[in-house]
Amino acid sequence: MNIVVVGAGLAGANAVEELRKQGYTEDITLLGAEPHPPYERPPLSKSVLLGDKEPDVVFVHDRAWYADQQVDLRTDARVTAIDRDRKHVEVAGTQISYDRLLLTTGSQPRRLADLEPLQPLYLRTLEDSLRLKDRLQGTVLIVGAGWIGLEVASAARHAGAEVTAVETAAQPLLAVMGPELGASFAALHREHGVDLHLGTSIASVSDGEVTLADGHRVTPDLVVVGIGAAPDDQVGRDAGLAVDNGLLVDARLRSADPAVFAAGDVANQDHPVLGRRVRVEHWDNAIEQGKHVAGVMLGGDEPYTRLPYFFTDQYDFGMELVGNVGPEGFDELVVRGETGGDRVYTAFWVAGGRVVAGMHANDWDAIGPIREIVGQPFDERLRDPGVPLSELAS
Ligand SMILES: Cc1cc2nc3c(=O)[nH]c(=O)nc-3n(C[C@H](O)[C@H](O)[C@H](O)COP(=O)(O)OP(=O)(O)OC[C@H]3O[C@@H](n4cnc5c(N)ncnc54)[C@H](O)[C@@H]3O)c2cc1C
Repeated sequence: MNIVVVGAGLAGANAVEELRKQGYTEDITLLGAEPHPPYERPPLSKSVLLGDKEPDVVFVHDRAWYADQQVDLRTDARVTAIDRDRKHVEVAGTQISYDRLLLTTGSQPRRLADLEPLQPLYLRTLEDSLRLKDRLQGTVLIVGAGWIGLEVASAARHAGAEVTAVETAAQPLLAVMGPELGASFAALHREHGVDLHLGTSIASVSDGEVTLADGHRVTPDLVVVGIGAAPDDQVGRDAGLAVDNGLLVDARLRSADPAVFAAGDVANQDHPVLGRRVRVEHWDNAIEQGKHVAGVMLGGDEPYTRLPYFFTDQYDFGMELVGNVGPEGFDELVVRGETGGDRVYTAFWVAGGRVVAGMHANDWDAIGPIREIVGQPFDERLRDPGVPLSELAS
């Protein structure tokens, strides 16, 4: 049997590792479009971009590990077509047969065509990060105050650059965090000297000068765009797999084709606990779905039930978030602690009488109880910071 994994990123690496851990001894081929073995992307906007760590910290394993594990890792190997009738994939004119095919092709940054004259940088790959690190000086304009934009703002301020950031929404991270916590992120960045323009957008670009719709003008040395990512589902779509904001998979990460599976950023899963489809672009999801799908490819029948988990670090602020607020939004946000000042707090999103997501800021011991509270019916005592979270978690 040959298991072919398309996409040598975090999900792909974890899938092949788990296949071997579960005792699968037959062929594994791991095909990646990039020149590198699989690597972690969070450091690309944090420690590597800050210059705190060497770039080689990012690799999940070195190349020798794949050879030891008898994983046929091929880099610079973009799969251009999948023939599901004949069960093979095409790479540079050659065909590789599969019995099981796992698609872990990840996602790609959304691009802004209007800004092309300014040759903006995007941040997805190791090369992007190193290029950006070299150019984080002078005046930097960041378009988009989402996770990537805010982390780049933090690194740019750390490097001593003048930073202007522009965001069309009324607050950073508004769709994920809501207005109150979004405002706390805005204040964090302003306190660190970021000139943040909210509820506005780029009106025009002329002779290197950018004019915002609010009238502000800036002549940046560097423009960085972080306006979200789109699933890299083209090769699956071309093969006739069902696609709608990513490759559609069931609760067990299986496509409608019994030989084809998907995991990580590209997978739009029918999530059994959330009761709806969700596509998660987070580090933890890529690891855990990668491991899980390995078991399913070997005949396991367990659904993937883990809730989304996310972390970020910006300046001296760090947070972790568990759960997922659905497209209908939430009824109430319960905050324990101060979202200003030292920003040590926990927060819980409540919808339909249940806690659907929870986070902590700078309160690392809280993540254990938060994991247990998310998913439970809302308990009024959550409003009382005098009641320890551990008491509510049991
Ligand atoms: C700068 C940055 C910072 C981040 N920080 C955080 C963070 O702080 N916290 C967090 O939770 N998440 C973070 N993330 C998100 C996290 O890194 C992703 O969710 C994770 O990398 C997804 O893993 P993946 O394996 O699904 O996809 P990827 O890591 O994108 O890997 C997919 C691979 O497939 C390859 N590929 C695509 N098409 C083909 C093809 N046809 N043939 C062969 N190969 C192909 C791609 O080139 C890529 O190498 C960050 C992401 C970025 C970019």
